[in-house]
Amino acid sequence: MMTMDQKTFKRLFFEKKNGRSILKCIQCGTCSGSCPFGNDMDHAPRELFQLIRDGEMEEVLRSNTPWYCVSCYQCMTRCPKEIAVTDLMYTLKEMAVKNGFAPSHKMPDLYKSFSQTVKRFGRVTESLVMAGYGIKHPLDAMGALPLAVKLMFRKRFEVLPQKIGQPEKMKPFLTAGVEKEALE
Ligand code: SF4
Ligand code: SF4
Repeated sequence: MMTMDQKTFKRLFFEKKNGRSILKCIQCGTCSGSCPFGNDMDHAPRELFQLIRDGEMEEVLRSNTPWYCVSCYQCMTRCPKEIAVTDLMYTLKEMAVKNGFAPSHKMPDLYKSFSQTVKRFGRVTESLVMAGYGIKHPLDAMGALPLAVKLMFRKRFEVLPQKIGQPEKMKPFLTAGVEKEALE
């Protein structure tokens, strides 16, 4: 699915919250050096920002980088230009899903399972997240079982659904961005 050209991509990105802030990026690499998943990413965050500035839509939206971001905020707290790196990773995920560039790797399915659990129960229950993900990736889920059992014994893995009083109050938080796209 190809829904926009490179020029439109750049314009739409700049219209997003904090989108234009990447113009302040000085390519210092502090964000990339701070990122715990930098080695697994197709592009370091700073490279991604340069590619956006160059209008390289497909390379940016097909990159696994935003999907490997675990929102640790290390990059944001250290960026000398106060660029909202983490928030922009969410923007890129949203744009990738909306425009049919979401990668075929497994991270989007994990996000979907996570948000469905929160939507239904108002909070995360690890067993449900793994079960939802395991429907599409059973071998992965089976492989994670030994770790789940270990965590269970240490009381770090919930098996029974944990529900908040009014889970429907969480729904507004899931009506924007990639979670909404994944749930539709
Ligand atoms: S830390 Fe900030 S200024 Fe430096 S490369 Fe990353 S986004 Fe750009
Ligand atoms: S918030 Fe995301 S991009 Fe930034 S350092 Fe953490 S994992 Fe890396």
